[in-house]
Amino acid sequence: MSDKFDVIVIGAGPGGYVAAIRAAQLGLKTACVEKWVDDKGAPVLGGTCLNVGCIPSKALLESTHQFHKTQHADVHGIQTGDVTMDVKKMVARKDKIVGNLTGGIAGLFKANGVTLLQGMGKLLANKQVQVTAADGTASVYAAENVILASGSVPVEIPPAPLTEGLILDNAGALNIDETPKRLGVIGAGVIGLEMGSVWARLGTEVTVLEAMDEFLAMADADVAKEAAKIFKKQKLDIKLGARCTGTEINGKEITLKYTDAEGAKELVVDKLIVAVGRRPQTQGLLSDDSGVKLDERGFIFVDGQCRTEAPGVYAIGDSVRGPMLAHKASEEGIMVADIIAGHHAQMNYDVIPSIIYTHPELAWVGKTEKELKAEGVAIKVGKFPFAASGRAMAADDTDGFVKMIADEATDRILGVHMVGGIASELIAQAAIAMEFGSTAEDLQLTVFAHPTVSEAVHEAALAVDGHAIHMANRKKR
Ligand SMILES: Cc1cc2nc3c(=O)[nH]c(=O)nc-3n(C[C@H](O)[C@H](O)[C@H](O)COP(=O)(O)OP(=O)(O)OC[C@H]3O[C@@H](n4cnc5c(N)ncnc54)[C@H](O)[C@@H]3O)c2cc1C
Repeated sequence: MSDKFDVIVIGAGPGGYVAAIRAAQLGLKTACVEKWVDDKGAPVLGGTCLNVGCIPSKALLESTHQFHKTQHADVHGIQTGDVTMDVKKMVARKDKIVGNLTGGIAGLFKANGVTLLQGMGKLLANKQVQVTAADGTASVYAAENVILASGSVPVEIPPAPLTEGLILDNAGALNIDETPKRLGVIGAGVIGLEMGSVWARLGTEVTVLEAMDEFLAMADADVAKEAAKIFKKQKLDIKLGARCTGTEINGKEITLKYTDAEGAKELVVDKLIVAVGRRPQTQGLLSDDSGVKLDERGFIFVDGQCRTEAPGVYAIGDSVRGPMLAHKASEEGIMVADIIAGHHAQMNYDVIPSIIYTHPELAWVGKTEKELKAEGVAIKVGKFPFAASGRAMAADDTDGFVKMIADEATDRILGVHMVGGIASELIAQAAIAMEFGSTAEDLQLTVFAHPTVSEAVHEAALAVDGHAIHMANRKKR
């Protein structure tokens, strides 16, 4: 093998593996460096997302959602008797899905001619990449272009140090193999709410501590308010303004100490998940003379097209600014591969959907009502509840709504926010519309099939102008 590549990608998560495949498809001689190995020393591809993130969490969410639906099947006249969950089988199913997908990436690398370099990658000066294998052997490869896609790692907090089997990060949380009686979660963000939901559905008493006073501050206020109401019904006990101050382990129990507006408190739980966020993973990635700079928060500094300060070196995904989302990482990977191949490429950072896969799901794209008002944009808002959707009623899934925000002057859609059973699928319709610069009227004039849950998107667009058909409109135009 010649030691010179057109492109070397460091990291095989959804940013890196997608960038590598695209670069190879475009005729570039490409290698991808990955340090992650399993307990047998075999390479682990797919990064956080496939191994300990998006996919395994969704597998557990789906299993527990099916469990919950089966328990409540009598609404359809289905009599089930006692419904039980074999948690070990649920976890084994999750592991099988992860194995299939990560193994699939190795196949895709082979099919596309991407060379996998196993080991720890370090960017040296002049776009040289040192790869140190598990046995310590180091090799140096030269590249015309380097893409850094080293991802992120969980933030740890001193009051709750990770403790095998008891105090867990996202990876440990995905491997709990029996239903805990009491679960504590620190952080009411995406991961905390998803993991809390998994176990609440299986009957665990779940308490979520959130240091901020506002619930889901990043979401539209209507979405956050509706979600808080629904999670309360689901017995997720979310304590706002509650800051963890310490933990004490007594045998198989954890005493979680925290303060809230009323003072110091304690809570005893059987497992504790720490889900307070993630930070860029750059340790050992850059030599002092690599020419790549980090920003003040430790992210790799890049411009709008993911170029670092070092010519020919790009960085993408969780290790650079922007939302820590797999689809954002992948799209950046595609953009960068296209740029390297000499194509025109850019990414629309204004239209990146965000989803929380609880049930109902929370999903949004574009700006919130609060953000637009703060910017002084005159807006019009349409909202349609799933309670008025025939298809949602048929599915016994009527919680939530679709909210659409359009520019008062131009009618252009500026944000769509949803709470609903399949909001994760519906939000793509909003993203496509916004990507094409649609107005609310464009969606009003689009024919939606009946009966579908998607009709709620149509009705929300109609409601923007006070013309929803299947509900009384607040404003008439
Ligand atoms: C529990 C959980 C659930 C999530 N759910 C979702 C979801 O539903 N949807 C969503 O969009 N996002 C989700 N995310 C976030 C998503 O996983 C990340 O945004 C995504 O994985 C980022 O991709 P990446 O390629 O930038 O980095 P990563 O996936 O972190 O991959 C980076 C890879 O680089 C490797 N690496 C790092 N440094 C080196 C080095 N020096 N040499 C060699 N290899 C190196 C790492 O081993 C890793 O394999 C979730 C995250 C978690 C933790």
